[in-house]
Amino acid sequence: MCASHVIIGDGIAGSSAAETIREEDPDADITVITEEGEALYNRILIKEFAKGKLPEAPVSIHEPEWYEERDIDLRLNTVVTGVDVDAHEVYTHDGETVAYDKLLVATGGTPTQLPVDNSDAEGVNHFWTFEDARAIKENAESADSGVVVGAGLLGIDLAAICGAQGLDAHYLMRGEAWWRYALSQDGAEIIHDALEEMGVTPVFDSGVDHFETDDDGRVTAAVDPNGDRFEAEFAGVAIGLNFNTEFLQGTGIETDNGIVTDEHMRTNVDDVYAAGDITQFHDVIVGDRAQNGAWGSAKEQGNIAGQNMVADGPEATFEWVSSYSITHFDFPFLSFGHPTRGDETVEKKYDDETWRRVALKDGRVIGGVLIGDLSAQSVLKKLARKQIDVSDQTDLLLEEGVDIEAFEGAATAD
Ligand SMILES: Cc1cc2nc3c(=O)[nH]c(=O)nc-3n(C[C@H](O)[C@H](O)[C@H](O)COP(=O)(O)OP(=O)(O)OC[C@H]3O[C@@H](n4cnc5c(N)ncnc54)[C@H](O)[C@@H]3O)c2cc1C
Repeated sequence: MCASHVIIGDGIAGSSAAETIREEDPDADITVITEEGEALYNRILIKEFAKGKLPEAPVSIHEPEWYEERDIDLRLNTVVTGVDVDAHEVYTHDGETVAYDKLLVATGGTPTQLPVDNSDAEGVNHFWTFEDARAIKENAESADSGVVVGAGLLGIDLAAICGAQGLDAHYLMRGEAWWRYALSQDGAEIIHDALEEMGVTPVFDSGVDHFETDDDGRVTAAVDPNGDRFEAEFAGVAIGLNFNTEFLQGTGIETDNGIVTDEHMRTNVDDVYAAGDITQFHDVIVGDRAQNGAWGSAKEQGNIAGQNMVADGPEATFEWVSSYSITHFDFPFLSFGHPTRGDETVEKKYDDETWRRVALKDGRVIGGVLIGDLSAQSVLKKLARKQIDVSDQTDLLLEEGVDIEAFEGAATAD
């Protein structure tokens, strides 16, 4: 009898798991269920589409034929509403029951709504799907003014969309700096200046107290907690994700702001795996629980889960230093690893558009942010991956031509 693999979610984690399973087992039954109405597309590129810089076609990754050719049963527009882990069954919104031998949950997250008045008004946008991007593009094209809330990696995409679409926009931030958990004031100022250059004004110690609307229920302004009012025919909200685990209630699968897995992407329940943004996985590099929100990491987790589902055991281990780049400015930006964790940071500003910060935990690199010059990334990521003790050599981490050979312990780390 051939094994039956059911995958919930056709994002990059679910889709790469399906691909791996097919490569490893030509006879397996594979079903991929997604609530979206389109097959895998490049979530990273939907911002370029919303900016008006890219047509729809290059954003798509797989057409439904890709699944047919691989004998993968793709079910679009289908919401999983429940799972019975004893019966090994998945239930969908349209009353279907799908039986599995191995189940992968790769359902990612859904943007969190601002808990303020009128946050559901027309013209207030959240950003996760291609459908969201279509609405954002249309809204932004017809608007003259905008506000963005959420001083993180997704918020800056919305700000860049406002800039590219020529809106007079304000970026309302809670503290005094963009992504204040990963950047110091020195690093963030480079980003603030670049935002200003694209026509987006950062506003600090701000946020949204409520939105104002017109008689048709369309957003017209945002009012911040200080009482300042910002005209906004377009609003973009990116304050975090709620992880899609509600359909697992009562299954006994351990959740904690996501799904808890080991380093093989196994949950605590037999035959149930998880991959992608949704996982709170055991990170073998830092020896602790971690969560990534990045495309490359989700793809690799899907691949690892797929291998282990077919092998029916912990054959493959997720061991990965994640990275995330921003390409909106005329200088490059990259964050890697876990830049907001750690017990110590070292940093340096080299010039107006070049800055580096490295986060360390117990004397070992755990993450960092590079602006302007990314040439150190491979060395820093290697130090992080190998967990080399650099506690006596932290000044070397900030050298322009940082060299792996200079670190004691690097030579013997392989
Ligand atoms: C605008 C934007 C820009 C980004 N830019 C970058 C970048 O530059 N670099 C980078 O590394 N990362 C970036 N990311 C993050 C990256 O896209 C994610 O980390 C990655 O897509 C996560 O993949 P995933 O498969 O885990 O989850 P997702 O892609 O979220 O896929 C989960 C899928 O599961 C479906 N689903 C959820 N619940 C159910 C259910 N009950 N039933 C059926 N289906 C369900 C969802 O509809 C969704 O299709 C960006 C994300 C966004 C939104």
